[in-house]
Amino acid sequence: MKILILGNGQLGQMLGKAVIQQGHECVLYSDRQDQVMALGSQQPLSMTLAEANEWADVTTWEHEHLGEELVAKAADKFLLQPERFNLLVDRRSQKALCDELDIPTSAWKAYENAAELSAILNGCDHAVVIKSAKGGYDGKGQWRWRPGDDIAAVAEDAGQRPGIVEDMIDFTDEVSVVGARSHKGEQRCFPLTLNVHTQGILSYSLAGAEHFSKKLETLAKEHHQKLTNALDYVGVLAIEFFVVGEGDNQHLLVNEVAPRVHNSGHWTMSGANCDQFNLHIRAITGLPLPDLLIAPTLMVNVIGVAGIPEALWEAAAADCHWYGKEARHGRKVGHVNIMIDSFERGENLASSWAEKLQLLVG
Ligand code: ATP
Ligand code: MG
Repeated sequence: MKILILGNGQLGQMLGKAVIQQGHECVLYSDRQDQVMALGSQQPLSMTLAEANEWADVTTWEHEHLGEELVAKAADKFLLQPERFNLLVDRRSQKALCDELDIPTSAWKAYENAAELSAILNGCDHAVVIKSAKGGYDGKGQWRWRPGDDIAAVAEDAGQRPGIVEDMIDFTDEVSVVGARSHKGEQRCFPLTLNVHTQGILSYSLAGAEHFSKKLETLAKEHHQKLTNALDYVGVLAIEFFVVGEGDNQHLLVNEVAPRVHNSGHWTMSGANCDQFNLHIRAITGLPLPDLLIAPTLMVNVIGVAGIPEALWEAAAADCHWYGKEARHGRKVGHVNIMIDSFERGENLASSWAEKLQLLVG
């Protein structure tokens, strides 16, 4: 089959590898440069977006911030209705959908402008996170506010665009479920992944060591299934959750939904028989989804540094991925998967490697 991938960053390139493994063809569209590119190259092809979409049997995406205009141009080859796609990329409709489906999420209120945001904060007696409705990633487009903090200043800044005000959650862990749904409605989810963020950016993920209770694993799969069934979604979709409560009251609150392959699923490239990229391409091309076999794995993001140290390229237990991007503080430029035997060992390794592999902002 012929596949057009919208976006040509690292997720697009890794999807492309899976396209090749499964014997298909692909081209990638750089939405930043408005140019169609070959896989593994920044050399533009003499093909317009319209021609690439015409050429493709199916069009998929590496990120969801495509904009309604681009979605309208390519949606005839999407496996998701464009209205549903647009609904998922706006935090307001995404949260409303969770509420509608009875999937727990942190309490929230929408605002259109600075005046509405001020009014919400004026009546608020607890800490909140304010988030732009569209376009945020890696903690960008977010503000923290606590009673006593200046309202005018945050409202002026955050109120320039519509957004949501969300209760600040006192979570014990952040986790995600990455899973696929096929056109027949089959579902395959990787086990819950523990995600540790620094300055709003994913620092490392740990998975596959049966760290979480059966109850949480089941809840995550149920939420994933409910959401993807309601959308008639085909392909990989990730849900980020906060773990809250203790003992029998422990449960998951949705933080956000990413309708695509996800950074917290990169460990599957070393820790699963079929990684998230292969799972996505299988789903969108109609191949069966395999049962997933899992090995405990740590994924450490490489952020803002000029390269991965040789010691890691040399280490037999490490699988290094370098994206070929120019290093800038806070920018994800690679990741390293490391085989582990326990979460404790993974956490120790993560803290020591994160220091060497990550240059954040400020
Ligand atoms: P991504 O890069 O994953 O798309 P993002 O920038 O879109 O992230 P979120 O995932 O919503 O934004 O938030 C980034 C991080 O900020 C979360 O992983 C979490 O650590 C923290 N955070 C967000 N919302 C809340 C909240 N309501 N309560 C507490 N912490 C929060
Ligand atoms: Mg997030």
